[in-house]
Amino acid sequence: MAERQWWLDQWPDGAEHIAGLVAQDVQDRLTDSGVRWPRCTACDDLHDHELRIEPELGPDPHWVCERAGMTVSPLGDLT
Ligand SMILES: [Zn+2]
Repeated sequence: MAERQWWLDQWPDGAEHIAGLVAQDVQDRLTDSGVRWPRCTACDDLHDHELRIEPELGPDPHWVCERAGMTVSPLGDLT
C-alpha cells in the first residue's frame, strides 16, 4: 500500500485511476487466503466464480463477469 500512496503523492488526480488497482490488491490478498471474492451472482452460470475488475488501471473501474462477458456493477457499488 505504501507504493500506492507514493503514486497518489506523485499524481494527485490519479485516485480514481488506481481505485481498480487497490481493489485488485484486496482481491489478490483474499484469493491468497483461499477466499473467492467477490462471487458472481449476476449470470446464469451456477459454478462458483469471481468477478474481475476492469480496467485494472484507469478511470471508472467496473466489476465484470468474464464468463458471461458482462459488466456487473461499478466499483464500490457492489451489492
Ligand atoms: Zn458470472
